[in-house]
Amino acid sequence: MKQPQHGRRHLGLDLGGTNTKWAVVEHDGGHWRTLATGQGVTPAKDGPDAVVGRLASMGAEVVAAWPGVTSVGIGVPGLYDPATGSTRFLVNVPGAWAGRPVARPVGDALGLPAFLINDARAFGLAELRLGAGRGARSMVGLTLGTGVGGVIAVDGRIHQGHDGTAGEVGHQTIDPDGPWCGCGNRGCVEAYARADQLALACGTPTAEEAVTRARAGDERALDGLAQVGRYLGIGIANMITVISPDTIVIGGGVAAAGDLLFDPIRAELARRVRTTSLDDVTIVAAALGTWAGAIGAAVHGAERAAEQAVDGSPA
Ligand SMILES: [Zn+2]
Repeated sequence: MKQPQHGRRHLGLDLGGTNTKWAVVEHDGGHWRTLATGQGVTPAKDGPDAVVGRLASMGAEVVAAWPGVTSVGIGVPGLYDPATGSTRFLVNVPGAWAGRPVARPVGDALGLPAFLINDARAFGLAELRLGAGRGARSMVGLTLGTGVGGVIAVDGRIHQGHDGTAGEVGHQTIDPDGPWCGCGNRGCVEAYARADQLALACGTPTAEEAVTRARAGDERALDGLAQVGRYLGIGIANMITVISPDTIVIGGGVAAAGDLLFDPIRAELARRVRTTSLDDVTIVAAALGTWAGAIGAAVHGAERAAEQAVDGSPA
């Protein structure tokens, strides 16, 4: 096959309950580069058919504008079946998503191989390949938002587990009798560190306001961040003890608090990690911001398509 003069191009779509974001990335064999990003409204209230149709039409518009795209990856906010490319359960996107094909209809509409990935794993993959985790051998990532997304990379690859659900750092139990979590368990990291709980701990209407007030020196907001940082630190300490990552990447709006949140996390790690040295563990804020999910979905599609080509299985 004739190689195009530019690197190979790959489309990523990041399905969210409000907006769907897209990114086109280019890969020249070693180096990844983001060429373009954008977003449009998700027709969530019109149901899954409309949402999948919009993914396909948005993808078609982007592919027409950026010729040479060879794969598409789709980040979904929830659980999916990697073998069939169907969703199992989505957070914040209403409708019957169990068993709903997504990869195939979008891939068919674009004439491209298409693959699903969980949105937090997409965030992690983007940060690992071209963001704050670049060069990491093993990495743990968290995205702090409405929930607490998580991702684990081992030996330079995102660990997906047998069903794509591996890496749910936010749903590990840190208190057996703690508050109920949205997942149905109690005492998860997320039950203490999701945005509404962080706002509550800081005495502010929103998590963003909590960060603003903490930066201005507000004692209550600083205490709230320290409390949430402690819970996050317990969860991250568990991850460090089990996996011994060299890099921890923390993303989502609250990561803007920087050391106001990272210092209490570091203090908790110092208290709890006993089996490995923390000297070689770097804690960094995510670098790719709001586009990480779409960029990571594009990278995932590219890497899965390349693996299929090697395997010789049909795309
Ligand atoms: Zn949970």
